[in-house]
Amino acid sequence: MIRSITQPKPEEEIDRLLEGLSRIFIIGCGTCVTLTRTGGAPEVQAMEAKLSDKGKLITGHTVVPVACDNLTREFLNEFGPQINQADTLLIMTCAFGVQTIARQLYKTVVPALNTMFIGKETAVGLFDEICTQCGTCIIGETGGICPVTNCHKGLLNGPCGGTNHGKCEIDINKDCVWTSIYNRLKELGRLDSMRRYQPPRNHLGEPKPGKFKLPAV
Ligand code: SF4
Ligand code: SF4
Repeated sequence: MIRSITQPKPEEEIDRLLEGLSRIFIIGCGTCVTLTRTGGAPEVQAMEAKLSDKGKLITGHTVVPVACDNLTREFLNEFGPQINQADTLLIMTCAFGVQTIARQLYKTVVPALNTMFIGKETAVGLFDEICTQCGTCIIGETGGICPVTNCHKGLLNGPCGGTNHGKCEIDINKDCVWTSIYNRLKELGRLDSMRRYQPPRNHLGEPKPGKFKLPAV
């Protein structure tokens, strides 16, 4: 399953963001951040206790089912008075959730988490980044393995000179992704793909801000 991977912001950063804001409503999310234990019910309760100890008044808290969903607005309606009493919302969701709630409620928002990447659970409790959504996908020629995301140098024509017995020179505990690509292509009888020169990435493939519009039918 694909998840938005987050980690808590440093406590000092949250303290700085909350400076001068004394009444706080805390929002967690029941989806990705619950799974990664960064913004589920236990983390929201721990945050409430910590901020109360620091003298903040917590006007309320909740864990919405899916923070990035448009229905979040309706879910939060029942907390209207508690939210209105707050100077700010402290949001323990990924950035998608924070932005969704900021647009819906027009209140000051403080994110409590850093959003790291979109990850896939590859073992129990382990999430690996699988795609940086570069907009110019080349995995049709790399045996379905992504070098943009998995090579420490993001090389499109690897391996680099530092690959060592299948390990990466940057992190010896990590397999060199270009060795993995070579092995996969060899198994598939597609080693000719290794010889194809990949031109430098076209960064226009990832325009900012990204926008996608369905063609008219
Ligand atoms: S090349 Fe890698 S980062 Fe780019 S779209 Fe394909 S899988 Fe994603
Ligand atoms: S050793 Fe392999 S994975 Fe590491 S930077 Fe070089 S090509 Fe990339």
